[in-house]
Formats: sequence, structure tokens, C-alpha cells
Amino acid sequence: MLKQILNFIFPLACGVCGKLLEADDHRRICDGCWSRIAYSRRMVFPLPYWMDDIYACCSYEGVIKECIHLFKYRGREYMARPLGGIMADCLEGGIDISGIDILVPVPLHKRSRSKRGFNQSELLIGEILVKHAKVLSNDNLVRVQNTRSQVRLSSKERTMNVEDAFRVKNPELFSGRNVLLVDDVCTTGATLNECAKSLKNAGAKKVFGIVLAHGR
Ligand SMILES: [Zn+2]
Repeated sequence: MLKQILNFIFPLACGVCGKLLEADDHRRICDGCWSRIAYSRRMVFPLPYWMDDIYACCSYEGVIKECIHLFKYRGREYMARPLGGIMADCLEGGIDISGIDILVPVPLHKRSRSKRGFNQSELLIGEILVKHAKVLSNDNLVRVQNTRSQVRLSSKERTMNVEDAFRVKNPELFSGRNVLLVDDVCTTGATLNECAKSLKNAGAKKVFGIVLAHGR
């Protein structure tokens, strides 16, 4: 009842097209927009050197691009649930994660994190953990350099920009383990690759990646 009254005063609207939604629509995206998400469910090629595979759930375009934008840059934290849900579903029908020991979100530098108020990859991982019982490590791989955004950089510049940006605090926790890195968007895979370099130098056996969307 309270929900319905609140929805009358503050109606829920689709974050993409603005269409009014039912009060209990936790996705906050209408069926029409949701159905236009382009699922790709594929491996990313060429595969960067340190990665054993990168799996992408969607193409970074159209509705999913708008959803990620709302989530990351417009502070719509609630988008983590439906978007993380896409990743959890993709993992179900996609890569075999039975051999994965630890899930690791790509870390933000503490300054970027406090500016945004959250780490999008950490929130996305929540839904994966709900569906796939795995161990989470969100504080052992850290970003020691506050690198500039990879957007608008060339492939070579992206690699140089994130070089040595990450550090593992306690290598023992990753030693001999298979790790799944989680990030929202991947273009060349330079960031994931740099994370994987740190993880493998810490003794990780295999490092896989899953990203919500793969851009060109
Ligand atoms: Zn819509």
C-alpha cells in the first residue's frame, strides 16, 4: 500500500526512455528497452598476454551503454542489480567457472572511488556471488596509481596508461589460485591485463575475466 502511494507521488520511470514503471519493478528499465540489449556472450580477441580468457556478456552499444552510463556517471547504484544479474546469467550459460577459486573486482584508486562513492565492479560482483557461491577478494589487489580514464586513448596509450597501476598486498592469498576478474567495460583489455600481470606475479595460476560489455 505504502509502495503504491509512494509510486503515485514519485513514479518509477525507465532510466533509459522515461516510460512509467510498476512500483515493484526493481530493474528500473522497461521491458521494451531491456529487450533491445544486444547480448554477445563471447570471448574477447585478441587476448591480452597475461589473460587466460576474457568473456563479454554484451556489446557496448545502445541500451547497455546507456545503462552503464546511468550506473557509473549518474550515480544510479541500483542498476548494479539488473546489470550484475546479466553477468551472473551469462556465466551460467557461458564459461565454466567451476575451477575458479576467487572473484576479484578491478579496483579503483581510492581517490576515484571516494569521488564516485562506489566501485562499479564491486557492486556488479554482488549479483554474481548471489548466484555462484565463490570467494570474494576485494582488498588484496589494489590500484596504486590514479590513472586517467582510458576513454579516447589509443590502444598503445591504454597499455602505457595502466602500466604498473596495480599491486597485490598479500601474494599468498592468490598463490596457486584461479582468479576471475570482474569489470564493467573492456575495450582492448589493457586494464584487465595489467591486473592479471600483478596476480600472476603474485603466483595466481590462471586469470580469467568477465566484463559486462565489450567496446571497440
Ligand atoms: Zn525504457
